[in-house]
Amino acid sequence: MKYISTRGQAPELTFEEAMLTGLARDGGLYVPAEIPTLSAEEIAGFAGLPYEEVAYRVMWPYVSGSFTEDEFKGIIARAYAGFEHAARAPLKQMAPNHFLLELFHGPTLAFKDFAMQLIGQLFQVALKRRGDSVTIVGATSGDTGSAAIEAFRGLDAVNVFIMYPHGRVSEVQRRQMTTPDDANVHALAVDGDFDDCQAAVKDMFNDFDFRDSVHLAGVNSINFARVLAQVVYYFTAAVALGAPHRRVSFTVPTGNFGDIFAGFIARQMGLPIEQLVVATNQNDILHRCLSGEGYFKGETIPSISPSMDIQVSSNFERALFYAYDQDGAAVAQLMDELKTGGGFNVSQGAMQALSEIYTSGRASEEETSATIKSELTASGELLCPHGAVGVKVANEHLQDGVPMVTLATAHPAKFPAAVEDASGVHPPLPPRMADLYERSERVTRIANDLGTIEDHIRKHIAN
Ligand SMILES: *Cc1c(COP(=O)(O)O)cnc(C)c1O
Repeated sequence: MKYISTRGQAPELTFEEAMLTGLARDGGLYVPAEIPTLSAEEIAGFAGLPYEEVAYRVMWPYVSGSFTEDEFKGIIARAYAGFEHAARAPLKQMAPNHFLLELFHGPTLAFKDFAMQLIGQLFQVALKRRGDSVTIVGATSGDTGSAAIEAFRGLDAVNVFIMYPHGRVSEVQRRQMTTPDDANVHALAVDGDFDDCQAAVKDMFNDFDFRDSVHLAGVNSINFARVLAQVVYYFTAAVALGAPHRRVSFTVPTGNFGDIFAGFIARQMGLPIEQLVVATNQNDILHRCLSGEGYFKGETIPSISPSMDIQVSSNFERALFYAYDQDGAAVAQLMDELKTGGGFNVSQGAMQALSEIYTSGRASEEETSATIKSELTASGELLCPHGAVGVKVANEHLQDGVPMVTLATAHPAKFPAAVEDASGVHPPLPPRMADLYERSERVTRIANDLGTIEDHIRKHIAN
């Protein structure tokens, strides 16, 4: 499988090269040159299999050529061995036709672990074979950073620098990033918001001197390997609910459009997905865009679902690439308008294409809190604020005869203050993390300035 850039001007790469590179050199994102498909029989055959086996069957066509079958099976086995639930991504019923897909049983209690644990193992095997080392730089609104640190800590061929917006992540998220004491992990608290952190990562990738001198690699959701890992649970969930014989809908709490884009890939691969519903919080650029209002940046307003406090949604570029019939020049033009003018309008044809695949909704802060409370009463489920945004929007899109699956993207204990304010119930951390508040923290506060951040990284590369 070859990988091509959404802006059409970067060299085609193998899976391994695309994974180690992250952002394409033309500023675009890598996508597979073709999306492989699975037959209805192959999908039906997933019923009752272990998560790891489905993972292997779904992802193999994308990675073959970069790994052997045995290598890849070992990578998957190690990636998910640390999950606390035997099903990895269990489904829970909340209402007759509404299910919750619990994606928070990994080491850092959010769905990011599904991708990051896999990427850690993929990097390790690939770098070992190449005798190479890399510097991973990531921007996080909270959950990516802890998942990356957990996945890469202690690996000798990798240094990880994670930038998060100072004061804008939850205490649990912060502590998960600042308490690991491995010499190869570095938490940076940036004086800025998430979009500033994300922009700094992009700028580092576009500073080719820096990029090449430190062997920069990216593990943000722009990395296609991340998206790929997330395709798997759409299959396991849908098949558990009767696919491919029955159509299933998904609602996805969305920020950077990675998780929902994985749903698009699953659909293109042949999974009968009826609706793919984008759920946003008050930072609703995606909902506005999918409602036909164009894609125009607003101010990011901090919310109780901070992992979705995003106004520039990097993976949306991939959705646009397909909506514009894989026209890289058209995508490059839109991204230029975004950079210079703060936004763009989507052509009528592309809007039509997007609306055939995605629908959307938004939840205000009050609606999010009210949903945490009402769902606790209705089904006994204690939702995290991100899952609550999803459930609120999903409830507006229920259809008779089509099961709805809402992705529960984090454990409520990751956001205890918001959950307790809404429900009166304090969600305890799982026992394996109970001492998180006692561990000592290690973090560098840093200015939102590219030169300062690059200098810091150069100085702290430990090998
Ligand atoms: C990252 C994250 C999201 C948003 O996912 P995207 O792939 O960026 O759309 C939603 N909820 C939680 C808890 C997250 O960590």
